[in-house]
Amino acid sequence: MKRWTAVLAAMLIVGCSPQDPADTSSRVEPAVPAKAPFKVASDRFADIEVLRYQVPGFEELSLKEKKLVYYLSQAALSGRDIIWDQNYRHNLLLRKTLSAIVRSYQGDRNGEPYRQLETYAKRVWFANGIHHHYSSQKMLPEFDAAAFKKLLSDTPRESLPLEHDQDISILLNTLSPVLFDPSVAPVKVSLDTSQDLLTSSASNFYRDVTQAEAEAFYAALKDPKDPRPVSWGLNSQLAKVDGVITERVWKKDGMYSHAIEHIIHWLKKAVKVAENPAQKDWLEKLIRYYESGDLRDFDAYNIAWVKDTESRADSVNGFIEVYGDPLGYRGSWESMVSIKDLEASHRIAAVAEQAQWFEDHSSIQDEHKKDNVVGISAKVITIVMEAGDAAPSTPIGVNLPNANWIRKEHGSKSVTLSNIIDAYQEAGAESGFHDEFMLTEDEKARHDEHGSLAYFLDVDLHEVIGHASGSINPGVGTPKETLKSYSSTLEEARADLVALYFLMDPKLIELGLVPSLDVGKASYDRQIRNGLMMQLQRLKLGDDIQEAHMRNRQLIAGWVYEKGLAENVVEKVSSNGKTYFQVRDYDKLRTLYGQLLREIQRIKSEGDYEAGKALVETYGVKVDQELHAEVLARAEPLNIAAYSGFIQPRLIAIEQEGEIVEVKIEYPDSFLDQMLEYEDEYSMLPIEN
Ligand code: ZN
Repeated sequence: MKRWTAVLAAMLIVGCSPQDPADTSSRVEPAVPAKAPFKVASDRFADIEVLRYQVPGFEELSLKEKKLVYYLSQAALSGRDIIWDQNYRHNLLLRKTLSAIVRSYQGDRNGEPYRQLETYAKRVWFANGIHHHYSSQKMLPEFDAAAFKKLLSDTPRESLPLEHDQDISILLNTLSPVLFDPSVAPVKVSLDTSQDLLTSSASNFYRDVTQAEAEAFYAALKDPKDPRPVSWGLNSQLAKVDGVITERVWKKDGMYSHAIEHIIHWLKKAVKVAENPAQKDWLEKLIRYYESGDLRDFDAYNIAWVKDTESRADSVNGFIEVYGDPLGYRGSWESMVSIKDLEASHRIAAVAEQAQWFEDHSSIQDEHKKDNVVGISAKVITIVMEAGDAAPSTPIGVNLPNANWIRKEHGSKSVTLSNIIDAYQEAGAESGFHDEFMLTEDEKARHDEHGSLAYFLDVDLHEVIGHASGSINPGVGTPKETLKSYSSTLEEARADLVALYFLMDPKLIELGLVPSLDVGKASYDRQIRNGLMMQLQRLKLGDDIQEAHMRNRQLIAGWVYEKGLAENVVEKVSSNGKTYFQVRDYDKLRTLYGQLLREIQRIKSEGDYEAGKALVETYGVKVDQELHAEVLARAEPLNIAAYSGFIQPRLIAIEQEGEIVEVKIEYPDSFLDQMLEYEDEYSMLPIEN
């Protein structure tokens, strides 16, 4: 809920201005050879495209700041193994086996079995395990069990993850069902409430514990009257040991200790070069939390972290998002290291400063408005390193911490990842995906001119104003309690609608944020185009929409389309056998967005489960089959990857006499090589945890 992910790399296409016009001067030779342009796209396999991002501003950092960023990045990479084990208990063994084959296979590397294995290995590396990073379904390899055995046999035994007295039969016995049996661990996170959510989920957050047992365990711990509840279960595996249900805590000397000790080592170095007392304070509190495993220490760290708004460098490092746990207790490990994007931060700060104005002028009912929108802190960051749950697939916006009471009392930090968005735009610029679904030259011109700004503002408003807006009526439970499985979709819809509602507000011109309302129009075009058509590209024909962000987008676009039919607000046009959705009346469309926002806020404020369910089920789940088939047919020749993620930069510390005298940044261009490098450098955990 607190993350904003790029649903389609292609969605972000903005048609950046083309290269400079050809040089018409008569000079023949530049004195210095022209620098090769930075290539964003790097690898393409299955439904994935791997990209690269740059880190503008890194070179301008002082040596001390560079050291800080280096230490935080090492702390990030040190925790990489944790997410693999969290995602599924046999992931580390499988990854080490696949990496060994890719590195050392002695057979024919052009043969089909090896090529299929390499593709499968890339998919697994990308997903941090055997389950698809987005759909959470198990990915099946194209090679079969016999081919796997041959691949293993043709790989030197000493490079495989085997003890001295073991042979490959142990790998075959453990991994064959994992690889080839569709009924083994079919889904990482089950949301099928007709089954036991824990025993039907493959993630490694629970061991031999049923849903009822886990719920009873936490019901006994929770104090519903506590205004500052601990985030129970966030940093542990819940396991039945000798018949007793117990938490195996992720901390120093606990579960995952090997990786956590390395994280602590690097965080301690970071403390020594902290920029200011506020930053030093949260770094020390984060270390204390990793050492104690006490979730109250985690709260203390978060409170200190929210207060640090002045530092140039920042990091998230810990067990953060709970999407990976069907019960929403346990945090997937992730890390992000960033530096502030000074120019863009100025823009988002201008939005944040007006939070109360936006709340006062929102279309929601007055009784659902907040009198005091507190503690919204927003900035734009440039990512330097991501690891764990945040890589290779990355969010493009983050709003933390997650504990509601901390957000309420101390505020939160909301960030937009500008260099990641830039990279998406570059990569998408020439794919032609948007063009395919735009009917008029007007729309294309608006997209070319304003698409980028429209997108950034959309993210800003969604994160900074959208998620912070609105209040829950007294006595009504949290949205998760009242709206249950519909709460994420409705929350994302609300945040999107707040953004949409204000994107056409003249206030944005007054604030100097946009040159004209054409920016808002470009946003509206895209919302309709994407919500009704483009996003279907990532769905298999016949499937319902499951993912919360996709549901919310279709819900919004489908609802306004239907409600505006009588007045032709959005027109369905058929041209040359192709379907288009064309906005005909932007002002009325804004009014409709506002009406839906008002209704969804009412549902949330009152905890109206039935109305929420009806909205999502009517507009957000089912897909128009004919339209869906058309989208797939039109997208096919463009070879668009449905998902994308990133190779990380490499930071190199140059030392003289034991002192770091410079930190260099490199941009590796092979995903495969980076994965093998990480296998060597950052394998911190044993295979069995
Ligand atoms: Zn969101």
